[in-house]
Amino acid sequence: MPVAGHMHDHLDGIVTRFAPSPTGRLHIGHAYSALFAYNKAKENGGRFILRIEDIDAGRCRPEFVAGIAEDLRWLGLSWEEPMRKQSEHMDDYRAALDTLAGAGLLYPCFCSRRDIQEEIARAPSAPHGPEGALYPGTCRSLSAPERQDRMEKGDAYALRLDVAAALARLDAPLVWEDLAKGRQEAHPEILGDVVLARKDTPASYHLCVTLDDHLQGITHVTRGEDLFHATHLHRLLQHLLGLNVPVWHHHPLLLDEEGKRFAKRNHAVTLKSLRDAGSLPEDIISRFD
Ligand code: GLU
Repeated sequence: MPVAGHMHDHLDGIVTRFAPSPTGRLHIGHAYSALFAYNKAKENGGRFILRIEDIDAGRCRPEFVAGIAEDLRWLGLSWEEPMRKQSEHMDDYRAALDTLAGAGLLYPCFCSRRDIQEEIARAPSAPHGPEGALYPGTCRSLSAPERQDRMEKGDAYALRLDVAAALARLDAPLVWEDLAKGRQEAHPEILGDVVLARKDTPASYHLCVTLDDHLQGITHVTRGEDLFHATHLHRLLQHLLGLNVPVWHHHPLLLDEEGKRFAKRNHAVTLKSLRDAGSLPEDIISRFD
């Protein structure tokens, strides 16, 4: 029932999420992104979800999961429990891979990082995307018996999406609505044949994030502009897997005094160290105005 005075527009009852990987303590850039998602939900009578993206067993650690919760609570955020941890849902990702494999859209890739670099060096005109040289497609052209042979030998392989084959099945261009940048046409080929199941873990960021946003009913995917290009691919995966299509809001990245983005590799200031040094939540939040 409509509530008097309550705004009803397309944002009403939205669901947003913050989806960190527990590979370290949160820094101030994460705080900005988490608050962006949280405020967007709360300003619109919506729900906010915290999801832990921990498929990378080699880099993710339980103490960082606890640290994320501690830091976000300190900032004043709350979320629905239990929070989804991707590592507990590998069956979901396996089922999605089976769907894509059944449609003939995946192929095994036996290349090492070094194989790929060498192949790219041999073919300097190899296609490049926004994040550098694309996978040159070496394993796409292996024959079925060659694939079989290498699998039987026990060679490790990743599963890659055959993007050209997937695009050939579209009967209309894929588009998405981006609240920051307007309507976008998706061109997943700019990322090449991405890995959807890694050699060391039978899933990938792209697969898990896209499936989870659907399974959790996310209506607004808010995240940093650094992931803008990934959305081209996510839009294709949604189409291939028959998933709901959210709206995206890629927000600018928070920059430090030198104009550089905060990132783990810059040893950016973590929320924990700021707190330990006496900062209050409002000191952090006021930096975002
Ligand atoms: N887990 C990703 C990260 O930590 C973010 C996922 C997303 O927002 O799409 O960078």
